[in-house]
Amino acid sequence: MRSHAKKLPERVLVTGAAGFIGSHLVDRLLAEGCVVWGIDNFDSFYPRSVKESNLEEAQRSLRFRLVEGDIRDEAFLAEVFGEGQFQAVAHLAARPGVRPSIEAPDDCFDCNVMGTVRLVETMRRFGVNVLAFASSSSVYGAREGREPFSEDDVVDGPVSPYAASKRAGELVCHTYWHLHGLRCYSLRFFTVYGPRQRPDLAIHKFTRAIQSARPIQLYGDGSMSRDYTYVDDVVEAVWRTLGRGLSGDGSGYEILNIGASRPVPLNELVRLLAEAINAEPIVERLPAQPGDVPRTSADIARAREVLGYEPKTPIEEGLRRFVAWYLAQHEVSLTASAKLGTG
Ligand code: NAD
Repeated sequence: MRSHAKKLPERVLVTGAAGFIGSHLVDRLLAEGCVVWGIDNFDSFYPRSVKESNLEEAQRSLRFRLVEGDIRDEAFLAEVFGEGQFQAVAHLAARPGVRPSIEAPDDCFDCNVMGTVRLVETMRRFGVNVLAFASSSSVYGAREGREPFSEDDVVDGPVSPYAASKRAGELVCHTYWHLHGLRCYSLRFFTVYGPRQRPDLAIHKFTRAIQSARPIQLYGDGSMSRDYTYVDDVVEAVWRTLGRGLSGDGSGYEILNIGASRPVPLNELVRLLAEAINAEPIVERLPAQPGDVPRTSADIARAREVLGYEPKTPIEEGLRRFVAWYLAQHEVSLTASAKLGTG
């Protein structure tokens, strides 16, 4: 077995720090003793208040600094890098989501591709040499029958602007590794879930619907499956990647699948979720959506070998934790509105 992360980062920049995965990563880096700067532009994809509450705990740490701004803004990036003295960057800022990317492809490419170019160019200028880039399983496209998805597979058939933008981001990383020796790690995340999950994602939407006795809108016949990956497992992979980048092992350019390696059909997900909530779901079936892929399934052999990555949270446990978080949030907002007399 190859050696795993040895050298630990002390000063890290996280882009997209106020988002779902970014805020968990910030918490983890702070728990590891790092000095962490977070960039976020609080885009309007979902409410600012949700993103602010994601960082509530981090904001109490003197080792955390949040800078509000856009990764596409060169002058802003230069100011942040000039002061920050980072050793490594975790790049999670993006316009996420397949469906929004079909509605607004310009925004998607501008943010996900040009934003990535501006970031790596700033890293080059300031001599910051390690990058973990949040890529996505969507780069594998619609490929029923060839599973699990391996990093060696050809990925030239994206079926949404979002998928194309993530693949383009990987290629930008390759270019900067080749030309400038930037140590770049593209981590292909497979459907991430857990507390603070984005409100537009299935598990969060379904929970909201089941809780309020509204129908779940289920696209397709329910056989579509996803390799749902618990957020702590994803964060562990990013942490190990940063360590690997700093210790100088390997070539310095790697693509790694970060999944649970256990695809779950949509029908089964709904069943497990309803069990965790302890309520009966009402299901409304709708036609499959354009841009959706029928199945995702991660071959994680390479991440195991290179990072010592091992997904630890089975879907049943992860859903219980998500539901517990969701209910606690809901209770907080009910209590707050009762206090204000608006309940
Ligand atoms: P998120 O929307 O919760 O977080 C992204 C954050 O980036 C947001 O807080 C947003 O305000 C910020 N942001 C967007 N554009 C920005 C810009 N131009 N400048 C600065 N900040 C900006 O999304 P997430 O689910 O936490 O995803 C994080 C990353 O992981 C994204 O790159 C996403 O594409 C990738 N990813 C996520 C999943 C998943 O299942 N959640 C799966 C695969 C890949």
